Amino acid sequence: GATTRPPPNPSPLRTAKFFQANMRILVTGGAGFIGSHLVDRLMENEKNEVVVVDNFFTGSKDNLRQWIGHPRFELIRHDVTEPLLVEVDQIYHLACPASPIFYKYNPVKTIKTNVIGTLNMLGLAKRVGARILLTSTSEVYGDPLVHPQDESYWGNVNPIGVRSCYDEGKRVAETLMFDYHRQHGIEIRIARIFNTYGPRMNIDDGRVVSNFIAQAIRNEPLTVQSPGTQTRSFCYVSDMVDGLIRLMEGNNTGPINLGNPGEFTMLELAENVKELINPEVKIIHVENTPDDPRQRKPVITKAKEVLDWEPTIKLRDGLPRMEEDFRKRLGIPRNA
Ligand code: NAD
Ligand code: UDP
Ligand code: UDP
Repeated sequence: GATTRPPPNPSPLRTAKFFQANMRILVTGGAGFIGSHLVDRLMENEKNEVVVVDNFFTGSKDNLRQWIGHPRFELIRHDVTEPLLVEVDQIYHLACPASPIFYKYNPVKTIKTNVIGTLNMLGLAKRVGARILLTSTSEVYGDPLVHPQDESYWGNVNPIGVRSCYDEGKRVAETLMFDYHRQHGIEIRIARIFNTYGPRMNIDDGRVVSNFIAQAIRNEPLTVQSPGTQTRSFCYVSDMVDGLIRLMEGNNTGPINLGNPGEFTMLELAENVKELINPEVKIIHVENTPDDPRQRKPVITKAKEVLDWEPTIKLRDGLPRMEEDFRKRLGIPRNA
C-alpha cells in the first residue's frame, strides 16, 4: 500500500521537526549589512533553512527581526574565532567588520576574525562536506598600481599599516581557502567585493556613503576627505547579494570581482548626494586617514562571463532608496 515512510536511515540532522528542508545554509556575519540582505534573499526560497552566526560586534538582531521565530531560521550568538559545530550544506562566510572605524578599533581581533575565523569555518566545511564562500574584498589590491583592477592583479598592500589587519587578513583568508581546496578538496568560492552601499548600513560607521547621507539628512556639512579626487565604485546591496548567490551556485572557485564599475571621485559623490538629498548642504574638506587607496574600480568581465552577472542599479537610483531607510531610522522625514 501507499505508506508514507521516512527515507532509509534519515540523518537526524537533516530531519527538521516540522518540514523537510533541502538545503541548510550557514551565514556568518548574517546580522550585518550585506549578511542580513543575503539572509532575506535566501529565506525567500522555501527549500532553504538558514542558520546565522554572529557576535553582534557591528551587526544587530534588528536587521533580522522579520525572521526571528521563523521555523526555517536560527540565530546563534557566536564568535567565529571559536570552533563551531553545526551541520550545514553551504557556508557564506561574511563575519568580519567591514568599516575602517570598526576594523581599526581592535586590529588584533580583526586579524583573528579573518585568520582563525576563516580557519574554523574551513575546518567546519571539511568535517561536514559543505561548500564555502568567502567575502573577500577589493582591499586585497591595496593602493593599486594597475587601474582598473582585474582578478589577476596581485595588489600593492602595506603589510604593516593601520589597514593591514583587514586587507592582509583577507589575503591570508584567501590563501587558507585555496590551501584547503588543494589539500583537502574543499569546494570553495571567493568573492572580491568592492564598495557596497544600501539600507541597513550602520548610520555612524564612518563609511563614505553612509556618512554623506546621514550628514545631508541632518543638514551637517558633507566631509570630503582630502584630496577628494580619490575614486571608488559603489554597488547597490541587492546587486551584490545576487552576485554572491550566483557565485555560490556556480562552478567557478573565483576569486571573482563583484562590484559596480561606475567610478566616482569623492567630490562627485558629495555633489550627487547634495543634489539628490539636500541642495542646501555644505561640502567641506577634512583630513584623510593613512594608506587611503587613491583609485578603485573593478573589472567585472569574469563575473559577466562566468556568472552572467552585472549590476543593474545606478548610484543615482540607489542613493534615494538608502535615504528613505536612513530618514526612518534617524526619525527625520523629508521636508521636516
Ligand atoms: P558588517 O560590519 O555590517 O557585517 C559584518 C558582520 O560580522 C556583523 O554582523 C558583525 O557583528 C559580524 N562579526 C564581526 N566579527 C565577528 C566575529 N568574530 N564572529 C562573528 N561575527 C562577527 O559588514 P558588511 O558590510 O555587511 O560586510 C560583510 C562582509 O563583506 C565582510 O566580510 C566584509 O569584509 C565584506 N566586504 C564588504 C564590503 C562593503 O562595502 N560593505 C566591501 C568589501 C568586502
Ligand atoms: N573546526 C570547527 N568546526 C568543525 C570542525 C573544525 O570549528 O566542525 C575548527 C577546528 O577547531 C580547527 C579548525 O576548524 O581549529 C581547523 O580544522 P581542521 O580539522 O582543518 O584542522 P585541525 O583541527 O586538524 O587543526
Ligand atoms: N571618505 C570621505 N569622507 C568620509 C568618509 C570617507 O571622503 O566622511 C573617503 C575616504 O577617504 C575614502 C573613500 O571615501 O577615500 C571611501 O572610504 P570608505 O571608508 O567608505 O571605504 P574604503 O576606504 O574601505 O573604500
